[in-house]
Amino acid sequence: MMRIVCPHCLSVNNVPKKDSYKKANCGKCKKSLLDTKPIELNSANFDEVVVNSDIPVIVDFWAPWCGPCKMMAPNFEKGATNFPLKALFAKVNTENEQELGARFGIRSIPTIIVFKNSKEVHRISGALDEVGIKQLVSQFL
Ligand SMILES: [Zn+2]
Repeated sequence: MMRIVCPHCLSVNNVPKKDSYKKANCGKCKKSLLDTKPIELNSANFDEVVVNSDIPVIVDFWAPWCGPCKMMAPNFEKGATNFPLKALFAKVNTENEQELGARFGIRSIPTIIVFKNSKEVHRISGALDEVGIKQLVSQFL
């Protein structure tokens, strides 16, 4: 079993580990755990999500005023569709969440940080295309 944070209500689900999934719904809100739209993290929910996720959490630190961040956003969303229940994609708006930006020493955006077993295992700065995101995440599954 692995712990999966629901992308809709952020409650923790236990899901059997399989190669692929046809269907998996959240025990609490009943919505699909296979949805891959990146979730919004803030200082109130960040640790809970990262600590309770047995799959890697891929966090895009961005800001609304940052052109390259906006350029990367659709690539990040498309990249996420390749990893239902394999990786959890999330975003931190560093303009609203300056505390998180400072905590992780974000000096330039976009920066993507990969968390595995609650720990940072990799970070990369600069906009990636969809293929780049796919390749990045594949290394940590
Ligand atoms: Zn849910």
